[in-house]
Amino acid sequence: MEESDTSRHFLRQWIEADVAAGRTGGKVVTRFPPEPNGYIHIGHAKAICVDFGMAELFGGECHLRLDDTNPAKESDEYAENIKNDIRWLGFRWSGEGDSGEPGFYNASNMFDRMYAIAEELIRRGQAYCCNLGQEEWKDYRGVPEKPGRPSPSRDTSPERNLQIFHEMRDGKYADGEWCLRAKIDMASPNIHFRDPVLYRIRHVSHYHLGDKWCVYPMYDFAHPIEDALEGVTHSMCTLEFEVHRPLYDWVVDRLDEQGLLVVRNGVKIRPQQREFARLNITWTVMSKRLLLKLVEEGHVAGWDDPRMPTVCGMRRRGFTPGAIREFCDRVGVSKMESESDPALLEWCVREELNRTAPRRMAVLDPVKLVIDNWGTGNGERGTENGERGTREVELPNNPLDESAGTRRIPFSREIWIDRADFMEVPEKKFFRLVPGGEVRLRGACIVKCVSVEKDAEGKIAALHCTWDEGSWGGNAPDGRKVKGTIHWVDCATGVPAEVRLYDRLFTDPDPLKDGSDNYLKYLNPDSLRKVTAYVEPLLGEAKPGEAFQFERTGYFCADAGDSQPGKPVFNRTVTLKDGYKPS
Ligand code: ATP
Ligand code: MG
Repeated sequence: MEESDTSRHFLRQWIEADVAAGRTGGKVVTRFPPEPNGYIHIGHAKAICVDFGMAELFGGECHLRLDDTNPAKESDEYAENIKNDIRWLGFRWSGEGDSGEPGFYNASNMFDRMYAIAEELIRRGQAYCCNLGQEEWKDYRGVPEKPGRPSPSRDTSPERNLQIFHEMRDGKYADGEWCLRAKIDMASPNIHFRDPVLYRIRHVSHYHLGDKWCVYPMYDFAHPIEDALEGVTHSMCTLEFEVHRPLYDWVVDRLDEQGLLVVRNGVKIRPQQREFARLNITWTVMSKRLLLKLVEEGHVAGWDDPRMPTVCGMRRRGFTPGAIREFCDRVGVSKMESESDPALLEWCVREELNRTAPRRMAVLDPVKLVIDNWGTGNGERGTENGERGTREVELPNNPLDESAGTRRIPFSREIWIDRADFMEVPEKKFFRLVPGGEVRLRGACIVKCVSVEKDAEGKIAALHCTWDEGSWGGNAPDGRKVKGTIHWVDCATGVPAEVRLYDRLFTDPDPLKDGSDNYLKYLNPDSLRKVTAYVEPLLGEAKPGEAFQFERTGYFCADAGDSQPGKPVFNRTVTLKDGYKPS
């Protein structure tokens, strides 16, 4: 297997050691645990690459587990899209599954068992019900430097605690009135270890279970239980959970005491948690909450707006799964917080599309070029209605890939060229079309500009040219040098297309620098510009999602939502070049 130097990271070494020591019972099992409360973004893609990637590397399984233990804001729409996005990235979940679909788990399917585990903790004197108000609760818990104080309920009998816990479940109390806490250590320097909350009351309907429950487990309690009961061996998450790890281990110990750990091939599976730095990207925001606000307030067209850092947004923009995975690989896995430049991701996209995307010609800012001496008997195919004839140009679909073949493009007397490829008063080193000068029309012929036609406002309406009749194919018969080559689209057969030019969504590399409530002021007002272009005939039939290189311009894809045969709409995926080079 080919290995990049970033691929032998500490998580991989950790798993390797466990496999070697026989601690996995012969199978590495990981999980990706999104909460179905939004669409997943590039940060999740990173976690997906790690979770699924490690399972793949060790020939194991990765479970997709919807962490739906927090009833508010979760939905099936989100859940379905998460699945779709993971599949698109090229990963497959596997394992037993808990509701008919292999490898797929809902944390909420374990609520009964979690509740029973909590009851058992109470019976064993390891958990108690507490009715301190939120402020009091914080006050009792104290600060890391000083031991906290025990809750007045800390030594309530198991019988009484069970009674209250059942009453909590049965709806006798309001939100926050009581909670269930682990009885651990009120003096621990780790504040998360000071009798943390395991269950709380929330009178909120769950998107799958309705009003069955009004008590819900906390993440710190639910997560190790899910991992343990699913037989997960390696549970990888982001660094903010590092301080929660002692609690994770505490819960796993209790499950072990209760005889609940999975035994695989004679090996008792103790799930373990390790943490890596989250992926941060400059020039955008990633938290689902902040992305949701962009959607709800209409700053973007939806979760899949091509400017969004969501997986569906990147897909619609034309980013490829391969490029996203390559990016995650290059960023690497570490314990150091850092920021990544979106230019690296764009570089990965460009690298892939350069190899794979068919070349096409499209003129984004068209100006008409008329070949005055066209069709005067040079062998052009004349037509009965007096048109002066059409020739065909044959161009490779991809000069880097001969097997991609060629395409034929009509060429006739009037063609579109890009306004920027002509300068009436040329600056130095401008090698394209100028008055009296010559330029090569890609694959066709050499033309010379003889006059410039302007409209009433003085704007250029058309460029009149003559063509060198011997230059068909592109080279001058006398061998003279013509430096510039420009792309073009034939007016008679070119297809009008809407082209959406995307730029960064924010104007600042750190839109959150003034706090997470003030990021909207850094929205880039020019992040989307729409133009009407002319594109070569084949592009008129582009299938939604299909990617192309528009020669000399950039990489584009037919919009998956709005593009139709004959009425194409293209998104600019990335420009052709920028100065970026990966280090
Ligand atoms: P957000 O705050 O963006 O809403 P989250 O952490 O709440 O994200 P979850 O659905 O709870 O999202 O996360 C699922 C998994 O994805 C978790 O294991 C989480 O650590 C991981 N994850 C989320 N964001 C990132 C990121 N930026 N980089 C790496 N992993 C991430
Ligand atoms: Mg979350």
